Amino acid sequence: MGLKEIRDEIARAETEAGREAGSVTLIAVSKKQPDARVEAVLEEGHRVFGENRVQEAADKWPAFREKFDDIELHIIGPLQTNKVRQAMGLAQAIHSVDRPKLARAIARIAQEEGHCPDLFVQVNTGEEDQKAGVMPGETDAFVEECRGLDLPVRGLMCIPPVDEDPSLHFALLAKIAARNGLAGLSMGMSGDFARAIALGATHVRVGSAIFGERPTRG
Ligand SMILES: *Cc1c(COP(=O)(O)O)cnc(C)c1O
Repeated sequence: MGLKEIRDEIARAETEAGREAGSVTLIAVSKKQPDARVEAVLEEGHRVFGENRVQEAADKWPAFREKFDDIELHIIGPLQTNKVRQAMGLAQAIHSVDRPKLARAIARIAQEEGHCPDLFVQVNTGEEDQKAGVMPGETDAFVEECRGLDLPVRGLMCIPPVDEDPSLHFALLAKIAARNGLAGLSMGMSGDFARAIALGATHVRVGSAIFGERPTRG
């Protein structure tokens, strides 16, 4: 596939779902991709990218930002509190807010810096031990806590279990977002973004379907 095909599929999914054209933001997930592939997508005019590691984002994006204007970066992976300041300096959005300690660190630095990226609370919809995210039953309280810290929580994010129908998880995330008055839904990856859009995704995170498989380091 490639950028154009993915854009076309997103447009089709928006239409089928009766959603406004352009209402879904495509986050091109460039983690581990060779610079040449990322640059090709920038040359095609795309400007919204996702990285799951802060260090990798810091190594890669300042140089691209010198060459291309208006790049929007989303941090979508696990965030350690000692990387928060760096993440907030680089990114326009963080999709992995998943614990009180992290929320407090973001709030403190936002105060100091006078700005804060858009935030998404990651929900562990499959209640998997190894996966980050707040449990579905704890999400309302955590969103409330973030709001109490004046954090700009825009929505929720999930990564469904690999071996389950993602639609159930997308529907659950949408339900939790709705009852918390949150408009943003960061859900859907290369294999399932059309289904996520049908269930209300506002942000889809697509990597390999745009750039090709990530090279494995050997
Ligand atoms: C890598 C990654 C993606 C993109 O995965 P693809 O299958 O390559 O589309 C999306 N979301 C998160 C959180 C990721 O880490």
